[in-house]
Amino acid sequence: MKKEKAFKLYGIFGHPLSHTLSPAMHEAAFRTLEIDANYIVLELAPTAFKKLMSQASKLSLSGFNVTVPYKEIVMGYLDSVRPEARAIGAVNTVFKQGNHWVGTNTDMEGFLMALMKDGGFRPSGKKAVILGAGGAARAVVYGLSREGVREILIADCFPQKARKITNDMGKLFKRVDYQAALAGTPEVKEALQKADVIINATPIGLKSQDPRVIPEEWIPRSHAKKVFFMDLIYNPSMTPFLMDAKKKGHKTLNGLGMLLYQGARALEHWTGRKAPVAVMRQALLQALKGQGA
Ligand code: NAP
Repeated sequence: MKKEKAFKLYGIFGHPLSHTLSPAMHEAAFRTLEIDANYIVLELAPTAFKKLMSQASKLSLSGFNVTVPYKEIVMGYLDSVRPEARAIGAVNTVFKQGNHWVGTNTDMEGFLMALMKDGGFRPSGKKAVILGAGGAARAVVYGLSREGVREILIADCFPQKARKITNDMGKLFKRVDYQAALAGTPEVKEALQKADVIINATPIGLKSQDPRVIPEEWIPRSHAKKVFFMDLIYNPSMTPFLMDAKKKGHKTLNGLGMLLYQGARALEHWTGRKAPVAVMRQALLQALKGQGA
């Protein structure tokens, strides 16, 4: 295997960042690929982040990730942004092309790889319900639309946020039938009965005291048809949303695969090498265990 000589530094910007699993995943990959590199946590307050980014050309990094709350504002500091990241409205991975910083969105690719590869679900022609209309939901909606989903209903406590996504995506994907709804309404209950895939893109379920993101009785019985339930949350590995669905006999998948594959794609952008996915998955599981998951 080719050993790379020059030391390289990668990292993740966000605020807060105390529980990030990205260093464990990327450093395991660097060791396997024999790349002399470190991946550091760069927890910066907004003023410090903006100051640093205003001099992005001087950054001594070879590439970096960006997470909440900087996925949108980072776009203003880059030399270019890939069209799909621009359409999603968020950049989570930045890599170098010559002296230029290029932003892309590997959350969308990570989501699709988890859903299709790990979950074995094919979105083409299917009906989807997305719970939540934040940044992650935008990546999910873009990915499903790109793969030819037929209908998407997005439900959020602020339906105007859902409507913004349906309006933006409607301009790009003319064949998809988009609907926006207020969370908890009969419209959402009805869409859940007809859906082939239901995705939790809210943070509801992260904390043990969280309420249910949808009432258990709104989950259809699986004897009519098996539905695919995905939660973008990976810690805990089984949220009440997934537990309710599993109890009723449906297929379930948590967000670990999305985290893994977005990281794998980021690494490939940075290094031009094929990501050692199995090693990265193992490192993630190990790091989660270390956090008591
Ligand atoms: P976000 O920007 O906070 O968006 C979440 C959205 O859900 C907000 O609009 C929120 O409304 C809405 N919401 C809250 N409760 C709801 C309910 N009961 N029904 C419908 N909508 C509701 O968060 P995000 O960045 O999109 O992330 C969402 C989740 O995905 C988080 O748990 C995050 O950890 C996870 N995620 C996972 C990965 C991965 O790799 N697996 C990647 C990205 C994100 P309010 O604004 O009113 O709260």
